[in-house]
Amino acid sequence: MSIKRDVEKFKNGEMSLEEYVKSYIDNIKQKNRDINALIFFDEDYVYSQIEKLKEKQNRGEKLGKLFGIPIVIKDNINVFGLKTTCASKILANYESIYDATVIEKIKAEDGIILAKANMDEFAMGSSNETSYFGPVKNPLDLERVPGGSSGGSAAAVSSGMAPIALGSDTGGSIRQPAAFCGVIGLKPTYGRVSRYGLVAFGSSLDQIGPIADDVEDAAYLLEVIAGYDPKDSTSIEKEVESYSNLEDIDVKSLKVGVPKEYFIDGVDKEVIDAVNERIEYLKSLGIEVKEISLPHTEYAVATYYIIATAEASSNLARYDGVKYGYRSQNYTSLIDMYKKTRDEGFGAEVKRRIMLGTYVLSAGYYDAYYLKGQKVRTLIIEDFKKVFEDVDLIITPVSPSLPFKLGEKLDDPLQMYLSDMFTIPASLAGLPAISVRAGKIGNLYGAVQIIGNYFEEKKVLALAKLLDKRD
Ligand code: GLN
Repeated sequence: MSIKRDVEKFKNGEMSLEEYVKSYIDNIKQKNRDINALIFFDEDYVYSQIEKLKEKQNRGEKLGKLFGIPIVIKDNINVFGLKTTCASKILANYESIYDATVIEKIKAEDGIILAKANMDEFAMGSSNETSYFGPVKNPLDLERVPGGSSGGSAAAVSSGMAPIALGSDTGGSIRQPAAFCGVIGLKPTYGRVSRYGLVAFGSSLDQIGPIADDVEDAAYLLEVIAGYDPKDSTSIEKEVESYSNLEDIDVKSLKVGVPKEYFIDGVDKEVIDAVNERIEYLKSLGIEVKEISLPHTEYAVATYYIIATAEASSNLARYDGVKYGYRSQNYTSLIDMYKKTRDEGFGAEVKRRIMLGTYVLSAGYYDAYYLKGQKVRTLIIEDFKKVFEDVDLIITPVSPSLPFKLGEKLDDPLQMYLSDMFTIPASLAGLPAISVRAGKIGNLYGAVQIIGNYFEEKKVLALAKLLDKRD
């Protein structure tokens, strides 16, 4: 059942929204202790929202598009009155004093804020093991990671704790955990969804996007959260399409490109086989599929770890013990307070990023690394521009491996960084990209990434609906 239909049933009294939400609450109570997907959940908070919605319905007022739908929110998105911790010690006690624009929009459409999701600390990671609140486990196999950094959001949807969730994606953090947990995750075009109220990591890359069990639900949620926002200077003034009317798109006439640089040695065979099976399926429907080339793909990970860390080092300078959250208790001077606060408040991965970013921005190295990184970023963008003159959409794997075991890559940051080799290029270019299921592999799932041209989310979603394979 899709959330769009559920909302209709709540509105016309066919279904009780209270019972519906309660079934998710029951799942949370039963499963969250093992999975650790949620770091804030309070039943009273949820029931008070339900009461308000029921009163609104009784008054006969117009009801919103998300009326009664419970949504899990990644803990780097501000919700007024709740903590926004970014799964970091340094923000462990920080309470939001405003709603992010996406939250305002969800509330305006009568959605229910169900819980806040665990994540990698400050969204830095690919396995959800860097959280101050402990790792999230993959609901499909509790010994494996759920992916990251939106692992809590993806695990919550995958285990039936919520029908939909919000994640954020800087280099793959919506798509990779969606793939690992067997759900759908969409990173919109950079500028499509407001970043106001999203705690900044890499500001030129960050985007909020939907995670769902169903492509149409992801489309429906995007319809609500997308749009221009004067509070975010990088959001773009462009009309929001009716993403959920996917039948508007003539999928069979779309031309699909398969970049040869994404099918290389070192990628798990079962991952590639699953994608190839989906490509054959498209061909069997008569859809035109052709090989393409994105020649600068191999430089994407290196470029990302220069640009994202540079931006992170600047964005995270604000956590100094004065303005937000944690402050060290034992210091001798102001400088000593800054140092101890940051030393005690940040985890190892966050410190590694701050040091890397500070290095690439420092005098003498700026031109050699940061400026060079920006130039390569342009080449990667040009690669995509050229290809989109010829094809409508691009199909690739999402991650080079299936979900790995907890602890397996924790001591090897480079291996961990390579988990995002296929999701990072679309992030650097600011293109929309989705992860959908490519059929079961044991308890786990294969996954396909579909990348579209700027603002062509609707085409991406239409092909995603056709390709998504649950069994
Ligand atoms: N895994 C990547 C990183 O650690 C991407 C994170 C993200 O998209 N937020 O930076």
